[in-house]
Amino acid sequence: MDQRRRVPRTDAVLADPRLVAAEGRLGRAVVKEAVVRAQSRARQGGIEPEQVADAAVEGLPPYAASLRPVLNLTGVIVHTNLGRAPLSRAAAEAATAAAGYTDVEFDLVTGVRARRGRGALDALATAVSGAQDAHVVNNNAAALVLVATALASGREIVVSRGELVEIGDGFRIPDLLVSTGARLREVGTTNRTAYDDYERAVGPETGFVLKVHPSNFRVEGFTGSVGIERLTGLGVPVVADIGSGLLTRERLLPDEPDAASTLAAGADLVTASADKLLGGPQAGLLLGRRDLVERCRRHPLARALRVGKTTLAALEATLRGPEPPVLGALRAEPDTLHVRARALAAELSLAGIDAVAVPSLATVGGGGAPGVTLPSAAVSLPERLAVPLRTGEPPVVGRIEAGRLLLDLRALPRERDGEVARAVLKAGG
Ligand SMILES: *Cc1c(COP(=O)(O)O)cnc(C)c1O
Repeated sequence: MDQRRRVPRTDAVLADPRLVAAEGRLGRAVVKEAVVRAQSRARQGGIEPEQVADAAVEGLPPYAASLRPVLNLTGVIVHTNLGRAPLSRAAAEAATAAAGYTDVEFDLVTGVRARRGRGALDALATAVSGAQDAHVVNNNAAALVLVATALASGREIVVSRGELVEIGDGFRIPDLLVSTGARLREVGTTNRTAYDDYERAVGPETGFVLKVHPSNFRVEGFTGSVGIERLTGLGVPVVADIGSGLLTRERLLPDEPDAASTLAAGADLVTASADKLLGGPQAGLLLGRRDLVERCRRHPLARALRVGKTTLAALEATLRGPEPPVLGALRAEPDTLHVRARALAAELSLAGIDAVAVPSLATVGGGGAPGVTLPSAAVSLPERLAVPLRTGEPPVVGRIEAGRLLLDLRALPRERDGEVARAVLKAGG
């Protein structure tokens, strides 16, 4: 009989108890897709018609969403294409717990409405002592839009030409600011801006002076810029976009600005991302003078930029909880990384795979600290393993260097080394 005629019908396969159970977890559409894929394999003769149900069960995705967890072995700690900061377990659990009904905007004692996300806001105020008030929005771009709209729409933002930055993927801060209806008053030159430049530009039309941290490049040579301290005497608010979201000084990144020091230097408002060096969920932070934060919070646009309950929960747990993975990766000792790389390479070599431990240079990534390299260690493998590793389960993403695939261990928690070994054995076997 024709093989194709014997392929079981979709409804019949879906009645398999394992697939019925999966429907409760993944939904009917996702399960049906797995069945259709298995049927098509059977029609093409790849499997026997009797194997369709088994193949559909095997082909079920682990989650209803198609986003796949990957192992980041690129050596880039804050990798925007890989979702920037991984949440700490505490943050992920807090987000899951907040996923149902929660008291995000409700006082359980009085039974009436309460300030949304007050726990996260309190945690921010505690973490950054100089901040009189805080507000959380969707990301740092949203924070800048809100500040520009609330404080400078129809007026001028004074900013140095050396700080008109493109962050990545065509996202340019000057374009974003102008889109709010504010006008840019550019001062100075690409490499040098002086206090006088600011002083001449500031006037009745000024909404605020903006300092933008050049978080993904460095200017060297004949350069000059004006620090926050000096700008505070101009009589207009000084807003600082610090980018990376460090709340306090980080010993390993001495040139990276942090919120507390920037406020202490006299900035009236600081904006930052929560999913870069802060190591939390995607969010934007506004910290600083109470009256200015309040103007932003009360602006109608604030409603359009607000974050959800799971974000607020993850942010609070990041701030109050154990050290997030980004900081663990940043602070990992090179010696420890080398020990791990040698152990992994030895295990893989025993299985006949061409694997050697090599020194490597990791970076912080789009999150900040341009030009800073962090000594690291990697397992060097034949380049041809790159594709099978990326498309395996779990996907392993390394980086190609001089014709070899490097799996840099800096951004990988130590307890996951075994998963990497298994993935490479599968891809190389
Ligand atoms: C990353 C960054 C931004 C954009 O932040 P998002 O959270 O991605 O919106 C803005 N400014 C600076 C200086 C940055 O480094």
